[in-house]
Amino acid sequence: MPDSSKVSAGRRRLAAGVAAGILLTAAVAAQQGGSRASDMSKISREYVRLVLALGAHDKDYVDAYYGPDDIRKEAETAHLTLDAIGTTVDRLAASLKSVSVDAADELARLRHQYLEKQLAAMRARVRMLEGEKLSFDQESKALYDAVAPTYSDAHFQEVLDRLDRRFPGSGPLVERYDAWRRAFVIPRDKLDAVFKAAIGACRERTLAHVKLPPGEQFTVEYVTNKSWSGYNWYQGNFRSLIQVNTDLPIYIDRAIDLACHEGYPGHHVYNALLEQHLVRDRGWTEFTVYPLFSPQSLIAEGTANFGIDVAFPGRDRIDYERGTLFPLAGLDASRTAEYYEVQALVDQLSYAGNEAARRYINGRIDRDAATAWLQTYALMPHDRAAQRVRFFDQYRSYVINYNYGKDLVRAFIESRGGTADHPAKRWNEFETLLSSPRLPSGLR
Ligand SMILES: [Zn+2]
Repeated sequence: MPDSSKVSAGRRRLAAGVAAGILLTAAVAAQQGGSRASDMSKISREYVRLVLALGAHDKDYVDAYYGPDDIRKEAETAHLTLDAIGTTVDRLAASLKSVSVDAADELARLRHQYLEKQLAAMRARVRMLEGEKLSFDQESKALYDAVAPTYSDAHFQEVLDRLDRRFPGSGPLVERYDAWRRAFVIPRDKLDAVFKAAIGACRERTLAHVKLPPGEQFTVEYVTNKSWSGYNWYQGNFRSLIQVNTDLPIYIDRAIDLACHEGYPGHHVYNALLEQHLVRDRGWTEFTVYPLFSPQSLIAEGTANFGIDVAFPGRDRIDYERGTLFPLAGLDASRTAEYYEVQALVDQLSYAGNEAARRYINGRIDRDAATAWLQTYALMPHDRAAQRVRFFDQYRSYVINYNYGKDLVRAFIESRGGTADHPAKRWNEFETLLSSPRLPSGLR
């Protein structure tokens, strides 16, 4: 605690015969620190109450809450209108501005900025629910504190041309690619065994570098009829519920992707470390709630995606899958490298999904055109493309959090020395990011 070190410094100087005024200064500083702490805890509580209140107007807004029950009850009984939530958010943002920050305490500074950005995003979400129309980029800036880069059709065409040479023949490229890829679907009756193995491998690699809270664990459920392919519902107490959507065929790469992304070192670890370091160690109640349409989501999705590369760098993934997952799924293990060579190319089309979403949300293309665009430029078969457009309907510019979030997180970790050839440093920087309230603009 900075306050107690200030007091002891004052005492030492007093003992050395310096004027008693210094002790007084220290006492005032301690008092200011104390009132700053109580101001922040009031703001934090009010922030939680507002997030929960907004959740009553927007069923997707509150992704997780494991904080005090009385705040939930307060939020439920107050029945705040959108308008009342908006003006209270403005008032709270003004009180936050008036609280001074101890510049020497990096976490305290990040916390202050975090609340500021989270409140601004909440305000934007209220305006959207009240009918304000934002363009895709305006929305992602307001909600996620970031604007993803734009790419032309020609950018994707260059990758598509290479894939076209890889899969020669007639008919749409997406059909040729899909026909080839069918040999890599995990059979439904092998799914659970493959996922359990993947989760075990991700957890083992994470535990080798990150100290996880005691008793952390999660359960996996298989569900249908969702616009997403997987979901982590954090429940507090270091526990998560992970749901895997089985509407569409699940390819072998999803096992490690989902196990890392939803579990280790992704969402489950992120939430558990925030609970441990910020909620339990520091008593920062605002981290017991997770508003989905907020800057925190870019950090959550970006770290969850980058975490796949951190846990399984380079050849490590192919070696592990060839030896364990392909055989478990009953797939031809001699084709592991071939599969990942093609996937590496297809991954370069990832931003095509953002382009489809941007054009669709901006009203430049309709549902059918967006579906067709995803088939052509993101190589998604029709049913998957249609599912993705349903995701756009529900989550809109949220899509940038996955790929742009990953790119921002990677650049941030690497700028601090956490490059692929320094794995220990990479894990260390990654763990620090997962344990702190840093937001997208703070990554640059
Ligand atoms: Zn995610």
